[in-house]
Parts: sequence; structure tokens; C-alpha cells
Amino acid sequence: MTDGFLSAEWSRRSWFESANEPTCGFPLQSLPYCVFAGMDGRPRIGVGIGLSVLDIKECVHVDLLHDLAAPIRTACEAKNLNPLLACEAGAHAALRARLMDLLDSEALNSTRDIVCKALIPMANATLLKPVASANYTDFYASIHHATRVGQLFRPEQPLLPNYKFVPIGYHGRASSLVVGGTPIRRPCGQTKPIQNGIPGFGPTRFLDYEVEVGIYIASGNPLGEPVSIDRAAGLAFGVSLLNDWSARDMQSWEYQPLGPFLAKSFATSVSPWVVPMAALAPFRCPAAGRAAQDPAPLPYLWDAEDQKTGAIDMTLEAFLLTPAMRAAGLAAHRLSGANLRDLYWTPAQLIAHHTSNGCNLLPGDLLATGTVSGEDDDTAGCLLELTNGGAKPILLLNGERRNGLEDRDEVILRGVCRREGFPDVSLGECRGIVLAFQSV
Ligand code: CA
Repeated sequence: MTDGFLSAEWSRRSWFESANEPTCGFPLQSLPYCVFAGMDGRPRIGVGIGLSVLDIKECVHVDLLHDLAAPIRTACEAKNLNPLLACEAGAHAALRARLMDLLDSEALNSTRDIVCKALIPMANATLLKPVASANYTDFYASIHHATRVGQLFRPEQPLLPNYKFVPIGYHGRASSLVVGGTPIRRPCGQTKPIQNGIPGFGPTRFLDYEVEVGIYIASGNPLGEPVSIDRAAGLAFGVSLLNDWSARDMQSWEYQPLGPFLAKSFATSVSPWVVPMAALAPFRCPAAGRAAQDPAPLPYLWDAEDQKTGAIDMTLEAFLLTPAMRAAGLAAHRLSGANLRDLYWTPAQLIAHHTSNGCNLLPGDLLATGTVSGEDDDTAGCLLELTNGGAKPILLLNGERRNGLEDRDEVILRGVCRREGFPDVSLGECRGIVLAFQSV
């Protein structure tokens, strides 16, 4: 996309004034998808615009989308985004263009009057899980996270020799994906420390969060047909925030030889908004530079255009709200801030790698980046890093300390894309409060 085209599209304004505030995060050009509870409690599809949600199902009912293709119109009336994700890219573009036209300041007064009736204040909308993902894969794409975690466990060789060749990942658990705002029950399991060679069993003593971004797959690929790197970005529909809750004491006991299992599968939170890739166009940037001595990606992971524009400039922050802060009316403590552009692998590389063995991705599948950490210590995207493996508690602004999360602690992730001359594009928030364990 040329800069001229970008500027023209991104200078459009909405008649819905709250969308034109440059820092509102939900401008005309973003229109992130969500699923919210209607008056009857049933799920409906919407898009965020300014301080409101536009009810897309209602737009279908009042014939505002009558000339769009039948599959996408039907998909707009579904209970989640899965049928919409499964539509063709052309249909996604047509829907997005139509929604922008309906909300554009050039829209006819008669159109505005109809659209107005389909707007619900965001503050009144109960946001639900947007996608029912059949599969969830978690990568490990931040070299800074991998290095810092590696230093804790293998100081002599923090990065294993495969890291700079293979986008490392594992198959996560799709059934325990929950929408942000869902409370997270402290899990029980086999835990370190080991005494007399026997592990304990009980509630984790080192519950952690991980700041990540989730990528939702639109049309997938048939089994046995890898997706080449130059086509891989086309499979991504949009992104959300993702918190990969982790029980570190369970993880360190169980992860060898086959990787994470119950230390991760008890819950993963996703934010309610799915920001379409089209809304991220101004924030695309070159893939993070590799050190001079690093190997080039193998040919199936290397594409000139992807290297030039495949990364995303997105600020990701984590906050902690403890019960004491809540009681005192204090703001949440900012734990860290990092940028998605610093990942070692681009989204297209993750998708190309995932399918390189012929594995089929399905519409709605969720691929997470892995913890997004930067090079500096205050950019670390989890407590494991921030506390040096639990050895050095962090000091919070109100004087409290934390190694791991305590019951009633709330973790809040926020993500936003910012660029001068463009309105902010927000991913919203992904929240989760920790509940006490439930005994077996
Ligand atoms: Ca993770």
C-alpha cells in the first residue's frame, strides 16, 4: 500500500465525533470486531467506533449491507466471528469498506439516522469471547524473552542452537481460552520444590502472566499444502491481546522432555477486540534486525517484502492492580512496556513455519507470539523475568512486593499502535483477576 493511498484513507473522518479524537483508539479506520451480548443476552457481532459499538447484525436487519455477498451477510448474523473469518478476503474488504462508508462524515443524513439506532455505548456493552478457536498455538518469538528465561535455567547456554533457525512453539489448549474479564482460578498441580525427591501437589506458588499478541487465522490451508512465506500474511485476519497465564513451579518440574503442559493449559485470556490486519497498515515496519553473526532465515522463511514491512509497531504494556490498591483507590501499577516490532520472527514467518510440514490451519485458529519482551529489563513481559526467576521481588508503587501473583490480584494488558499523523489504533484491554484455588 503506498503512503499516498494510506494518507487518503487515514485522513477520512467520521460523523460520529468520538471516533475523531486522535487518542480514542477506535477511529474510523480501525473498526475492530467484537461479539457482545444483545438485549436478549444472545451474542451479536459488532465493531468498535469511538466510544460505541456498531451492531452489525442490526445493520443486516435494516438492509444497510443488502448488496454484499450472501456468505458475509449471513456471517454478520452469527454468534461468533468464525463464519466471518472463513469468508474470502475480498468479502472482508467489502464489509470493511461498507462499514467505513456508513460511518464516514460524507454519509447521507438519512443513512446516519439509521446507523445511529444501531450504536450502543461501549460502556454498556458486555463483550464476549469473539472467536471459538479450534486450535491454539503458542510461539516463543521474542529473542529477548527466550534469552532472559534461558539465562535463568542454562546460564552457560541461554539460547539453544535451534532458536535462530526454528520459530519455536508448542500446541496450546483451545478449550481453556477465555475472554478478558473472566476470573482465573489458581491452578493446582505437581510443584517444585522437591523434598526427598518427591514434588509437592497443591496450588501453584508462582502464578505468572505473559504479555502476548494473538493472531486469528482467516481462511486456512488444506492439509498437506504448505503456505509459502509470500502468501502467509494473507492468512491472518486480525490480532488481539493475549495473556498466557503460567504456573512457573509446575512448569519447571514438568516441561522436560516434551514442553509446557498443565502449567499453561488451565487458562489463556484473549481480549474481546479483534483488530483487522487492514487497520494495522500504517504501523507495519521492517522485521527486527538480526545481529551480524546471526544466520539468515532459511529460504522458506525469507521474503523481501516481509523483511521490509512484516513487523508491527505496537506498544504493549502490563499493569497490576492488587487488592490493597483497589481498596485505596489507587491506579494500577505499570509493570512493563515492550514493542511487538522487536520479535525475532514476523507473523508471516510464524504462519509459513506452522504450515511448512503441511499442517492445516483452520479459520479461527489462534497463533500467539509468545511473551513479548524487549532488551531492557523494564520491558520484560512476565514476572519470571522481572523477578529474576522469583529471586528478586518487584517493589510496587504502594510499597507492596510481588514474586508471583497473589489471590485477587488483577493483571491488565493494554496494546496500542501509534504513529505521528495517524490516529491511535487500540487493542483495548485484556484483564484477569486471580481467584483462590479450588481443592481437588
Ligand atoms: Ca507463552
